[in-house]
Amino acid sequence: MIAWREELKNSITTGEELCAELGCDSSEASAVAAQYPLRISSYYLELIKRAGKPLYRQAVPDIRELDDPQGMIDPLGEEALSPVPNLVHKYPDRALLLVSGRCAMYCRFCTRKRKVGRTMMRITEDTIAAGLEYLRNTPAIREVLISGGDPLLLSDQRLEDILQRLRAIKHIEVIRIGTRAPCTLPMRVTPELVAMLRKYHPLYINTHFNHPAEITVQAARACALLADAGIPLGCQTVLLRGVNDSLEVIQKLMCELLRIRVRPYYLMQADLTRGTGHFRTDIKTGLDIMRGMIGTVSGMAVPTYVLDAPGGKGKVPLTPDYITSIGDEVLEFINYQGQPCSYPSV
Ligand code: SF4
Repeated sequence: MIAWREELKNSITTGEELCAELGCDSSEASAVAAQYPLRISSYYLELIKRAGKPLYRQAVPDIRELDDPQGMIDPLGEEALSPVPNLVHKYPDRALLLVSGRCAMYCRFCTRKRKVGRTMMRITEDTIAAGLEYLRNTPAIREVLISGGDPLLLSDQRLEDILQRLRAIKHIEVIRIGTRAPCTLPMRVTPELVAMLRKYHPLYINTHFNHPAEITVQAARACALLADAGIPLGCQTVLLRGVNDSLEVIQKLMCELLRIRVRPYYLMQADLTRGTGHFRTDIKTGLDIMRGMIGTVSGMAVPTYVLDAPGGKGKVPLTPDYITSIGDEVLEFINYQGQPCSYPSV
């Protein structure tokens, strides 16, 4: 059996297995897993044992997931923005095509918690064909993000079939894949996969790391294989209470990402997803982290801090305020060290 499939086969999927490995409360984990699925790859389980809480919180069910009445089932309004099931058309020139309902690990803070890994996420050849048909008939769309679930949980052949059919649509210029596999199942990135992907340029990959302890030798190898194939890599990090909500952790993570050739792209305010309220930080925490990053690390290591507005209203950048006044002739502002500065405004 291929190594990554073996790894998946050995994943933890029940509260009892989890309890045997990590000594947590199996009845709580089982109660949560009955509603929101549980899977932790054996690779990520070893990382949790090594790094502790920040990784444990991302992966291990928490009873608070079942008590979050303020949370929204579909915070980004994706279902209402789906002209056909599993295709979200929010921005005029881009669309999101969901091609897999499974992930190597079910992140406890997932935005699509309502359906990822659950029976209501029905992805079949018919839903994919309907999505491709919609894309074919919508010439305004020039970029498609393939996501899920995790597209890299498909076989190479299945993924290539989808890429081929997308590439046959003339108005689709750019393909982007969203995957957490380089972080949670890095052995999935094989030379064979990469040889296949490189045939479909311009192809971008946005991956997802949330803590420096996730940047391992194996993760670095996976990212190097992709980067060597000319695939630009970005990272969408989610700001999570008790995981990475400090300047020190985010600084280290972003610098480590650059080192493994992944460009920090977004630092995302956690969505208002039901079952994830215990992860959410206040906005000031994110702004303070951004203020601490800007000017003190390479600009390439500074992501854009964004929130995704509820109801499908789109991403909004959240930036610390540097401008103190805009006059007809002079712009006044503070620099990254808090010193007052001015510049001609015309
Ligand atoms: S890998 Fe992505 S889609 Fe899958 S559970 Fe984690 S956040 Fe959700």
